[in-house]
Amino acid sequence: MKYDVIIVGAGPAGLSAAIYAGRAKLKTLLIEKESFGGQASTTHEVENYPGVFKITGPDLSDNMKQQAINFGVEIKQESVQDLILNSEVKVVKTYENEFKAKAIILAMGAKPRLAGFKNENKFRSMGVSYCATCDGAFFEGMDIAVIGGGDSAITEALFLTRFAKSIKIIHRRDEFRAAKSLLDKAKEHEKIEFIVNSVVEEAQGNGVLEKLIIRNKITNEQSELNVDGCFVFVGLDPINDIIKDKIDLDESGYVKAGEDTKTNVPGVFVAGDLRQKPLRQIVTASSDGAVASIMAEKYIESV
Ligand code: NAP
Repeated sequence: MKYDVIIVGAGPAGLSAAIYAGRAKLKTLLIEKESFGGQASTTHEVENYPGVFKITGPDLSDNMKQQAINFGVEIKQESVQDLILNSEVKVVKTYENEFKAKAIILAMGAKPRLAGFKNENKFRSMGVSYCATCDGAFFEGMDIAVIGGGDSAITEALFLTRFAKSIKIIHRRDEFRAAKSLLDKAKEHEKIEFIVNSVVEEAQGNGVLEKLIIRNKITNEQSELNVDGCFVFVGLDPINDIIKDKIDLDESGYVKAGEDTKTNVPGVFVAGDLRQKPLRQIVTASSDGAVASIMAEKYIESV
């Protein structure tokens, strides 16, 4: 079975690419190994997608998926193991199948970065979490910490106030990347306190997380913080394992491509968080998806 275009990854970038490709009547396959919506599906509230006042990440993702299906896009939940990109016919190999297409759109996105403290992996799912939407409810009435100073840390800390008794936001500087409006909300919230210029060095506990060892970067003093949970939101790393030696990446592992989403390999396009870009948002990912599918359409017409 040969497709016009295969899109790998179904976050906002892949879903938007699918909507545009389907609407352009390209024979389109969208492959996703985990959850449709990607990072957006783990965001409890989206309030900056133009034209939509407030929507949950899962609802926005479901709407996009349905829109793609309505335009005739075929969807498969399979894990891509390998890609052959350097030939006119592109091949996508999953455990179960091998698919062929004239063009490929890479939209695998990015995944939560580890903070790097001692025992972080040991306490993963035993108190240490990377998804407030998934795990927040486990911490009803408990004391928790949130690590990070970006939009994710502050947005998710605000969400976690629904469950937790107290939240300490631990940030390594005293300036924040997060939007000022979010930061102001967090500063005013009675359940939230900030521990700035500080890093978590170690997690401790008997089976489950019980305390964090924190070091103040200015005074170098160490302190202990008793917590039942620790949510880590310290940024994202690109998901590039299946393309590492096939496509030009920048020094941080993002795919090199400009606004036209063209990679260095003809017929291969990249959309969303995986692309080298200055702003990673649902709206910029969606925009990339639209551009990538139109570029793919033009490429297909030209070969
Ligand atoms: P981010 O903006 O890269 O922020 C990461 C934060 O973690 C920074 O404060 C950084 O500190 C800190 N950090 C990084 N590595 C660390 C480490 N090893 N230990 C301790 N702290 C560490 O990442 P993000 O908040 O996940 O956001 C990712 C992208 O999604 C951004 O473009 C963001 O705007 C977007 N986003 C948008 C929304 C929204 O608009 N509603 C919501 C969520 C995410 P430094 O500041 O010192 O580097």
